[in-house]
Amino acid sequence: MPEELEAVIGLEIHVQLATRTKMFCGCELSFGDEPNVHTCPICLAHPGVLPVPNEEAVRYALKIGMALGCEIAPRSIFHRKNYFYPDNPKAYQISQYDIPICGEGKLGDIRITRAHLEEDAAKTIHVGESGRIHGSAASLVDFNRGGTPLVEIVTEPDLRGAAEAAEWARLLRETVRQLGVSDVNMEEGSLRVDANVSVRPAGSTELGVKTELKNMNSFRFLQRGIEAELERQRELIGAEGTVEQETLHFDPASGDLTSLRSKEEAHDYRYFPEPDLVAIAPTEAMLQEARDSLPELPAARTARYEAELGLDEAQARLLAGDPDQAAYFEAVVAAVGEAAEPRVVANWVTGDLTAALRAADDAERPAVQPLADLIGAVASKQVSHAGGKQVLAILVADGDADVAAVIEREGLAQMGGDDGELAGIVAAAIEADPAAAEQIRSGNGKAIGAIVGAVMRETKGRADGGEVNRLIREQLGL
Ligand code: ADP
Ligand code: ZN
Ligand code: MG
Repeated sequence: MPEELEAVIGLEIHVQLATRTKMFCGCELSFGDEPNVHTCPICLAHPGVLPVPNEEAVRYALKIGMALGCEIAPRSIFHRKNYFYPDNPKAYQISQYDIPICGEGKLGDIRITRAHLEEDAAKTIHVGESGRIHGSAASLVDFNRGGTPLVEIVTEPDLRGAAEAAEWARLLRETVRQLGVSDVNMEEGSLRVDANVSVRPAGSTELGVKTELKNMNSFRFLQRGIEAELERQRELIGAEGTVEQETLHFDPASGDLTSLRSKEEAHDYRYFPEPDLVAIAPTEAMLQEARDSLPELPAARTARYEAELGLDEAQARLLAGDPDQAAYFEAVVAAVGEAAEPRVVANWVTGDLTAALRAADDAERPAVQPLADLIGAVASKQVSHAGGKQVLAILVADGDADVAAVIEREGLAQMGGDDGELAGIVAAAIEADPAAAEQIRSGNGKAIGAIVGAVMRETKGRADGGEVNRLIREQLGL
């Protein structure tokens, strides 16, 4: 049996900052504007121009660093990273190298190596057939994006699977989104994730040779790309081959991985300190402002929901990932008080309410108190769960409806109790389906569903399922 190969993954994430202007010039940021309208001598690299750092970008980088628990460098510097490509008219990118603004940190269980400031490249557009020049495919360059401020976040190789990597990347996106420093839109490229992937014998502490998957533009593709690459590496090693260090492109349509280039080393870039910029040294006031502006972030909120409200982790994470929904949930929990557990409120908010909102056109969340009243009414069995869902559909259309009045008007008050009405309906349902009754008597427990269903139809969901089950068994003498 071949030894088991464990996945080792580290991510590099580029976050485009939503500042008003570019990193080193006054050009406006834009997405989707006509090409080459947001340019100037600085971002077009005319001779003799000088970069001026964008203070807003520095403030945003500080927020990201603090949200990721990074050590903030008292003094960080910029380097020139030299490379030749049409997306880069200076023939170098201004980036940070040995002293990034944000050092080691952690998000969830994953260690952050660093988060540094840099500038984005221009966008190249490969026009193919239509743009052929003397028979060769041509490319166009749009410099609007060139010089956009970026924070690049680098993780340690702590991730152990494709799903885990995608999940963590989602947490990172939610965290950055809630800081309000980026649109974090993968399709538009304001969040770009590269995955470094290797395998090694399970239990080993050494790192295998890695490949780098570039720029997958959704979390689903990120996961699928990593899965495909892990499979490729495992097969290669299983066939006594070796993994080559290279940069790969994953095509989600075909599932193919193609090599873009063999991986360059840091020394290929001839990094050297940028002589036109001084060090970045945030003042105490800037640090304090960044610290004060941090909201409660998804990871902390998830932990609080688990510890204080008794939610399970998946549900806590689902709620905590969406700040509006989280605020709504907490308000409903407060309004429900002792009438139901927070776990029950979470089920309504993430389950039935989400479904009801999806089912209705431009529906909105009901006001807090009506939903709290409804949850209380179901918890105290004034209305069945099925009846409660009907009330919810009405609340979604009219968010201020009075729940007690709706229950009354729609005749949804739960049946059962002592008046015998439900018992009569159960008796009729048994009589109408003698075959099912016989099966239940002879021990086929599943057959009870047919009679429960008939009773629910007859009562339009007003009966409590547990009570109906009990009555059926009682009447069948079980
Ligand atoms: P490079 O020299 O190729 O830039 P780094 O050591 O700077 O590599 O790491 C870049 C990213 O690759 C980081 O996210 C890091 O965690 C990850 N990484 C490094 N080595 C491996 C490996 N063997 N397997 C998976 N990921 C790795
Ligand atoms: Zn400019
Ligand atoms: Mg590196």
